[in-house]
Amino acid sequence: MKLATKLIHAGQEPAPGNGAIMTPIYQTSTFVQEAPATHKGYEYARSQNPTRTALEACLAAIENAKYGLSFSSGVAATDAVIRLLLPGDEVIAADDMYGGTYRLFTKVFAPMGIKFHFVNMSDPESIRAYFNDKTKLVWTETPTNPLMSITDISAVSRICKEKNVLLTVDNTFATPWLQNPLDLGADVVLHSATKYLGGHSDVIHGCLMMNSAELREKLYFIQKSCGAVPGPMDCFLVLRGLKTLHVRMKAHCENGAIIAQFLKNHPKVEKVYWPGFEEHPNYDIAKTQMRNFGGMMSFVLKDGTQAAVNRMMTSTKLFALAESLGGVESLINHPASMTHASIPKENRDRIGIVEGLIRLSVGIEDIDDLLEDLKIALDKV
Ligand SMILES: *Cc1c(COP(=O)(O)O)cnc(C)c1O
Repeated sequence: MKLATKLIHAGQEPAPGNGAIMTPIYQTSTFVQEAPATHKGYEYARSQNPTRTALEACLAAIENAKYGLSFSSGVAATDAVIRLLLPGDEVIAADDMYGGTYRLFTKVFAPMGIKFHFVNMSDPESIRAYFNDKTKLVWTETPTNPLMSITDISAVSRICKEKNVLLTVDNTFATPWLQNPLDLGADVVLHSATKYLGGHSDVIHGCLMMNSAELREKLYFIQKSCGAVPGPMDCFLVLRGLKTLHVRMKAHCENGAIIAQFLKNHPKVEKVYWPGFEEHPNYDIAKTQMRNFGGMMSFVLKDGTQAAVNRMMTSTKLFALAESLGGVESLINHPASMTHASIPKENRDRIGIVEGLIRLSVGIEDIDDLLEDLKIALDKV
């Protein structure tokens, strides 16, 4: 089956008994058993829920994975992966990544004795220096949030296999429509389904996909034991969102390409970060491992003062000023003070998350209206 068909059908059967075509929302905490310990796959909804089962099967299918596990948020899914580790273990992680992941690593897990090395993953060979016998995990995100750096997943995975270390790729920005990290050698794929997979800014959800049965067992044990599971309504919303992922992504990519070009040619814009430009440092890798370039981008204003940034951020009408991304509606965000405020300023400046940096999540509204909205706002800068 091809991806567009999987998105609509995988894991979903007409409801037993009445044939409902949409997976029912099994709003129940427990399941009746005929005799002690004779349950039919469902005993208590923290461990299993039929709406979640359907979603997990669909999530696995769309990443060409054997297994999917779904969590109450993207961060909860990240948390579950790090819980595979023990104090003393080490992680090599990308230095440009989602602020909430950085916060979880440095503020929750580092004090518990897990050591994180933050490195520039756009040059895979440079990570070799950080491996030692305590290294258990490599964590990367590609494209990264917000600077759209690209990691060569195949190259990093070859190094990880050589060193016998697990590789997790956060595929939130690309989505399975643009890139499948497991096919490129990753061991675990993570999504914040809050973003493109859900796609309608109406649910918080996260998931992990993997091929190893052993890894699935360990992560399922953590999911059940730690309890960061989504409710059935949330699972239903993600299932429904997934049905149009391919249609939405085509529109995000189309609008994204036009807006990236428009910003690049605009006299008030200093620089645009978008992997579809030939001058992007890892354009060749982006072109090989991704099927298109998506609707996420960041740009730097020539006038990087706080006043100019504020004028831009408060002048758009269609681009709503908000955190998050990947919904049908366009959003504008100021990473330094919003999504990435938890990263210390000196680290932000070093990697390029400067005051004048603005991130766009380009939605699927009419392109003429989006361009007009940005034109008017840039005129006010
Ligand atoms: C939003 C996001 C997360 C965290 O997901 P939540 O659903 O907000 O918990 C992780 N990674 C990336 C790249 C994200 O954009």
